[in-house]
Amino acid sequence: MSEKVRVRIAPSPSGNLHIGTARTALFNYLFAKKTGGEYVLRIEDTDLERSNEEYKQNIFDSLKALGLNWDEGPDVGGNYGPYKQSERFDIYPKFAQMLIDKGYAYECFCSNEDLDKEHEIAASKKIPYKYSRKCLNLTKEQKDELKAKGIVPSIRFKVEAKELVFNDIVKGELKFDTNLIGDFAIMKSNGTPTYNFAVVVDDMLMKITHVIRGEDHISNTPKQILIYEALGAEIPKFAHLGMILAPDRSKLSKRHGATAVSDFIKQGYLTEALLNFVALLGWSPSDGVEIKNVDEIAADFRLDEISSSNSIFEYEKLNWMNGQYIKKMDISKLTDLALPFLKDYDLNKYSREQLEKIIEVTREPITLLSDLVYDTRYFFEKPVYDEVCELLKTNLSKKVLDKFLSDVDGYDFKNEQDVHDKLAEFRAYFKEKFGFKPKETMWALRAALTGRTKGADMVSIILLLEKDEVIERLKSAKAI
Ligand code: GLU
Repeated sequence: MSEKVRVRIAPSPSGNLHIGTARTALFNYLFAKKTGGEYVLRIEDTDLERSNEEYKQNIFDSLKALGLNWDEGPDVGGNYGPYKQSERFDIYPKFAQMLIDKGYAYECFCSNEDLDKEHEIAASKKIPYKYSRKCLNLTKEQKDELKAKGIVPSIRFKVEAKELVFNDIVKGELKFDTNLIGDFAIMKSNGTPTYNFAVVVDDMLMKITHVIRGEDHISNTPKQILIYEALGAEIPKFAHLGMILAPDRSKLSKRHGATAVSDFIKQGYLTEALLNFVALLGWSPSDGVEIKNVDEIAADFRLDEISSSNSIFEYEKLNWMNGQYIKKMDISKLTDLALPFLKDYDLNKYSREQLEKIIEVTREPITLLSDLVYDTRYFFEKPVYDEVCELLKTNLSKKVLDKFLSDVDGYDFKNEQDVHDKLAEFRAYFKEKFGFKPKETMWALRAALTGRTKGADMVSIILLLEKDEVIERLKSAKAI
């Protein structure tokens, strides 16, 4: 019987949820979904100085917004809690002591100054630094003496020299010479565990079967495997994902654009588009169709088919994809997401139904929800005529506006078909009588009603603005 897959996402709350962590979370989530496994959220907040509540909340909110809900975690609980490392501080020393007792670890009394000196010597000899093992063979008496002086030791793992080989699901076989590693700390003198130790103890106790994470952690993996071996624990399978790079191939950072999921959302990206886009950073659909929802991706997902190379974060492709999602999204849902971006407008001017119509008729060309601020402005504010001044001053425009004003009483503003038909007659009239092209006639009308030469369809604009407003705008435009 094969054991149940258990994976985890283990963010450190020292920043808002990064888009790269969102991809790691997604791949863990997809793997769990595909295999009927469990997906755990663990908050790695052992570094109390760098961790804070706001970041933790941001991580929760962003993962939830993306729909990457966890089966076990700090808020929902589970059989292997607590799921916040800061609430597990009593667990780690016991395992560290066990390693000392078995001869896999030892107390180290070196001060930071001692260690800095060792680093300097290695640097001056141009050799990679490795701890000197000065404290490896201290006698009990020596240790007691140091402790009596008030020196609290850290605990170091004793690294045996050997070739360590493991099979990474994504990267294939990886070999490390542990002789290069040096004895590393597993517990700090302040009683908190180091990352490498806490992560192994927790993954072991939480029965994690697959560790799927960014390849920036590859160099930690041999250390972690040594700890598993020393603890006599089963070693999980590892899958290290290639890095996400900026279009200029440097590390993705704020100077390239948003990097935190919450910033993407604030800028008007849809979480569905973000998820679909980050899935493609390493995974490719077997049928070549890139636009897919999470369920479709999960059905087609295979961890061993993830690309082992780095991926480029193409903001332009994300924008395109976001536009595709905006075009297809259910209009009521899209309106819910769009209205917060329009909060500075007097939304009470319109009914919910009309607001949905405004979004419906303006969504086609946009890439971000925030584009709606500009694209819907003329529905909420008087048009600004700066850009269409010249157009409105033409003879053609004057004729078009005059006629529309004299016809307007005949329009039935409650009847879409009627407005549609009347506009067709209106265009035909100018074509026949003056030879104006239909689009020229409409430009003049559009310029008067919106201050622009492009935008939503005219029938919708006229119906949404309603008669009084239409008349008022035409009169203002005529006065230009
Ligand atoms: N807390 C680590 C990070 O945020 C997670 C490392 C891991 O997945 O093992 O990078």
